[in-house]
Amino acid sequence: MLEKSKKLFERAQQFIPGGVNSPARAFKSVGGTPVFLEKAKGSILTDVDGKEYIDYVGSWGPMILGHAYEPVIEAVKETAAKSTSFGAPTEIEVKMAELVKQMVPGVDKIRMVNSGTEACMSAIRVARGYTGRDKVIKFEGNYHGHGDSFLINAGSGALTLGQPSSPGVTEGTAKDTLTANFNDLNSVKKLLNEYEGEVAAIILEPVAGNMGCIPPKKGFLSGLRELCDAHDVVLIFDEVMTGFRVAMGGAQERYGVTADLVTYGKIIGAGLPVGAFGGKQEIMDVVSPVGNVYQAGTLSGNPLAMAAGYALLSELYENPLHYDELEEKTVKLARGLKDVLEEHGVPFVLNQVGSMLSVFFTEEEEVIDFKTANTTDQAFFKAYFHQMLENGIYLPPSPFEALFLANSLTEDHLRKTIEAADESIKVALD
Ligand code: PLP
Repeated sequence: MLEKSKKLFERAQQFIPGGVNSPARAFKSVGGTPVFLEKAKGSILTDVDGKEYIDYVGSWGPMILGHAYEPVIEAVKETAAKSTSFGAPTEIEVKMAELVKQMVPGVDKIRMVNSGTEACMSAIRVARGYTGRDKVIKFEGNYHGHGDSFLINAGSGALTLGQPSSPGVTEGTAKDTLTANFNDLNSVKKLLNEYEGEVAAIILEPVAGNMGCIPPKKGFLSGLRELCDAHDVVLIFDEVMTGFRVAMGGAQERYGVTADLVTYGKIIGAGLPVGAFGGKQEIMDVVSPVGNVYQAGTLSGNPLAMAAGYALLSELYENPLHYDELEEKTVKLARGLKDVLEEHGVPFVLNQVGSMLSVFFTEEEEVIDFKTANTTDQAFFKAYFHQMLENGIYLPPSPFEALFLANSLTEDHLRKTIEAADESIKVALD
């Protein structure tokens, strides 16, 4: 198993930092050799050794209707033949903006960028420009890409300023990022009171996905909305993961709370490098060239990326049944996994929202924030992960990532996955 992957990983490590172009791919949390992939169709991945896997990563989110989805491929081919980039306006950008507005609440205007990171970086710059304030509140365990302002840990006391979590991020940047606890409105209230008149924005993953899947508690999102209104703070939902996934209109639609700004990535580009930020007209009008908050990109709104994203979003818009089917499949998988875990007497918490799902191997009653997520038994996950991989199930290689289901999953795939989980848990317990 993994013969060619091992050889490629050795070669890769000579010329690419850690052998990968994004750290999570290196399998650091689970150890072993990352699987080098060659092709995929629907929910089946094929690695360079010819082994097949049922996919629950979906390129970390974009592949909601499966890999090599025909309308996306056709759109890319057709567009590529007419040029891969102009750096000038195109009709598909207009169609894309109009379509997003129809699908999502509260997005009067939208600007395309090239990644989720760029979208989040830009959104906080816009919020700062709009409010004339410097500080931003984020939540422990949420991830908003690798912009400097987000690579910040909470300070030692509840109300202290942040500390850089990566060398290369300056203390000066860190002092403008404040960190609250997910699902804890009081921690936000304290920061807003302490820094009254200084906070430009609150940014969060409305359903956390980067510490495993953690839903917002009832009243958490609406509570944040009220706090933002009371303190004139811009509420930013980072819907890079949840956008077009937990509902057509993302978490905003699912929970009935409208943010001021929203960021997108992943599904909006159907697997091509796309991000976007959008929201209320009044705020978006500070963006250059209408306003003076600068933001730009040579390849932003790239025709190939727009064609791919437009093809995928159109299908989701025209056939909203995809969301019902996906939810049904995810509930079925969740039920199967729960049965297996209970049978083997493994303590766990299973969180599921739409087609996002995480199993935490923990004795806790519920997983609601970074602290409770961290109680998961990482050694057990590691053993389970490798056994699942051997059994042909490709899970995210970390206990702190959510599974993303695709509507290309069949009954047979789900059955095989539950059987593999049964066997893998048995082996992991040995
Ligand atoms: N925001 C969230 C919620 C994410 O999950 C991610 C990436 O996983 C990002 C932002 C960053 O997006 P990208 O990796 O496209 O830069």
